[in-house]
Amino acid sequence: MKLPPVEYEAPTTVAEAINLLAEYVDEASVLAGGQSLIPLLALRLARPTVLIDINGIDELSGVSAMDGWVAIGAMTREYVAEESETVADGVPLLAAALPLIGHEAIRSRGTIGGSLAHADPAAELPAVARALDAELVVRGPSGERVVAAAEWFEGYLTTSRRPDELLTQVRFPAAGPGTGTSFQEVARRHGDFAIVGLAASLTLSEGVISDARLAFAGLSDVPVRAAAAEDLLVGEMPSAELFEEAGRRATDDIDPPADLHGSSDYRKKVAAALVRRGLREAADSASYRAGERQ
Ligand SMILES: Cc1cc2nc3c(=O)[nH]c(=O)nc-3n(C[C@H](O)[C@H](O)[C@H](O)COP(=O)(O)OP(=O)(O)OC[C@H]3O[C@@H](n4cnc5c(N)ncnc54)[C@H](O)[C@@H]3O)c2cc1C
Repeated sequence: MKLPPVEYEAPTTVAEAINLLAEYVDEASVLAGGQSLIPLLALRLARPTVLIDINGIDELSGVSAMDGWVAIGAMTREYVAEESETVADGVPLLAAALPLIGHEAIRSRGTIGGSLAHADPAAELPAVARALDAELVVRGPSGERVVAAAEWFEGYLTTSRRPDELLTQVRFPAAGPGTGTSFQEVARRHGDFAIVGLAASLTLSEGVISDARLAFAGLSDVPVRAAAAEDLLVGEMPSAELFEEAGRRATDDIDPPADLHGSSDYRKKVAAALVRRGLREAADSASYRAGERQ
């Protein structure tokens, strides 16, 4: 289907983009990689009057590490982050999730900020952001604000970004020594959105779990943390029995949606299996990373 007629603006600075957003507010859509927005326009599921194309804003791209954080500009392409050594070293969970997004052609256009602003609950990056307590930096006419990932995802394809704000950067805390991670998902075919996905991170201190993070994709209209399972894990030594129980705790109280890809019960069973698998892989990589640094 052809796109509906729409006005087009191509700012080259963040300041210009914010002025345009302030002018058009609800009538504008920001165009990043276009991998989600263009299909929405073609299907008439989004009807903006104007597209504000931010592809020409160089200051929005790049990856840097500073003070225990890895900062990624919103317009950084998914494949650029995937190939970044700074991401691989500092945010291994993100590095594991990126290759699971669609296919190479999609990741060569799609952006880190676009995925987090789009907030598809089945997408990989929102689950990673939620698991790691990432910070999202937005800028609008009244200045900059930093939003915690827990406050960012408000509902299906809905975030706490105000219509006159631009997402400019995402910051992930760098993984410390003894931290191991795993991204697990079940999808019908490679490159499809996950039916269920899991972002897992474990930190071991002298063989004991000192920090545990589990966030699901595909189980709700926002990415969700499995707090009861995280609480169970902290203070314990990794074992198959512990991870089995964590799978039960993580899925005890959830009521996932049913659709043509799977029933609610199926999603629940998959989620428990992913917790067991994810924790095993995260614990193995945590032991390895702890050993590497001795
Ligand atoms: C065939 C196909 C398969 C895919 N498979 C997957 C998959 O398995 N997993 C997955 O996670 N994704 C998948 N995607 C989506 C892909 O990851 C997109 O790149 C991503 O969701 C959106 O990023 P984008 O840069 O293309 O954003 P766009 O499509 O340009 O924008 C998406 C939304 O975010 C808003 N937006 C974008 N950037 C900003 C910003 N800086 N500030 C404010 N608002 C902004 C836009 O206005 C729009 O509402 C797939 C896409 C396709 C076409």
